[in-house]
Amino acid sequence: MSAVNGQVSKMDRAGHLRTNQTTLDQMWQRAKILHVADARLAVEAGGTKLRFLSASQVQSLIESGEYKLGEKYFLGLDEIDQEPYFAWNSSSVAPQGEKAPDGYLTLREIGGLISEFEMEISLHAVALANWHKSHTHCARCGAATSVAQGGAIRTCDKDQSEHYPRTDCAVIVLVRDKDDRILLGHQPVWPEGRFSCFAGFLEPGETFEQCVQREVLEESGVLVREIDYLGSQPWPFPASIMISFDAVTDAPEIARPDGQEITEVKWFSRAEVKAQSDAGTLLLPPTMSVARKMIDRWFASGAEGQGGAKLIGGETWR
Ligand SMILES: [Zn+2]
Repeated sequence: MSAVNGQVSKMDRAGHLRTNQTTLDQMWQRAKILHVADARLAVEAGGTKLRFLSASQVQSLIESGEYKLGEKYFLGLDEIDQEPYFAWNSSSVAPQGEKAPDGYLTLREIGGLISEFEMEISLHAVALANWHKSHTHCARCGAATSVAQGGAIRTCDKDQSEHYPRTDCAVIVLVRDKDDRILLGHQPVWPEGRFSCFAGFLEPGETFEQCVQREVLEESGVLVREIDYLGSQPWPFPASIMISFDAVTDAPEIARPDGQEITEVKWFSRAEVKAQSDAGTLLLPPTMSVARKMIDRWFASGAEGQGGAKLIGGETWR
């Protein structure tokens, strides 16, 4: 079976270029610039492609008084033609309220529609924007911090301490039984009929495998073994990476929800997942999520998934 998220990077992050401000300034002038505005991304009409700005277009948006000066983050060089890419993180001067301006959508909204390359750029840009937004002050002394090294870090304006972006680890688990059925759970905050894999944050001093066992036991009551790593996916909502595993339980009959985070658990065969998702009574997780990739991978590995049969639903977030 293929990995859940095994594609190699199409972007050279070119970390060695981050420390030279003159080089960064020169690259900015010819860069493809992704505008991140209030956690939304600039997109072309239709919302299936990112919209890149030039440095002069950014300048015009600032001079028009529409957008703040913002911050620039160097994302890297395109591996094919070495074009530099930047994110420009700048919110609008006038408060936007809940309604997004035309041409801007969230990563959740476009994640299932854009190309892998654009997804990689978007994940990097959004993760950086989220981190910078919440680290405007020094954790040591409370003074203001500033962007340094092309957005890779922030430094304290007072004591010059360096602050690095944080990513929170969360495990996500596809629990199977000996008959190769899967156990999915329903969270009370989800729409009726939505079921997904079990997930939770890694605690300090815990291995991924221990976290898998603890989270599955807490949420579904079953003990798992044969814990195998499947792949990982950045999930910057706001700052996670999902580390995915497959695990097996010998006692499927004892599964029960914890009643808090999970209010319902169900075992599904491939035929049941197919029939119920086709009928719309089972809502699968969105196609951009690692949970969905795990379910699709499991489905494709059985007889029902041979010959190109695919699970449907979840192309857009709901
Ligand atoms: Zn400080």
